Amino acid sequence: MGFLSRLFGPAKPPREQAKERARNWWLGKGANASPAKCDICANSVAPREGYLLRTGQVAESGSYVTVVSEQLAKETVSSAGGPGMDWIVRDALMPAAAFAVRDTAIARIKSVSTPWLVCDSCMSRHFEKVVPAS
Ligand SMILES: [Zn+2]
Repeated sequence: MGFLSRLFGPAKPPREQAKERARNWWLGKGANASPAKCDICANSVAPREGYLLRTGQVAESGSYVTVVSEQLAKETVSSAGGPGMDWIVRDALMPAAAFAVRDTAIARIKSVSTPWLVCDSCMSRHFEKVVPAS
């Protein structure tokens, strides 16, 4: 154990820190705060619940980048207006295009400068590895 951990005690696990940031964020909203929406799935998050993640942490989740990539690919297909290939088929045929979509998805995530409020189930689904419990 180094000097800093002797000063401040062992660092809290990232998951606990994210929960604490969410609690502080809720405190700032006051006693009568109404539920907020999860920034990932738009489900309701009750006051004092959820996790607050940094944009960098969100962008590190491979599975969430995949979700945003799928949305982007669907937007592209529908804006093209044609019958279009299923995006999964297109990804298989054009891996370079799939990479470009992932880059765009990461850029879209990183364009959000405010912290992300994340519900329990999105936390387990997408951020277990990025924000481990210990
Ligand atoms: Zn959610």
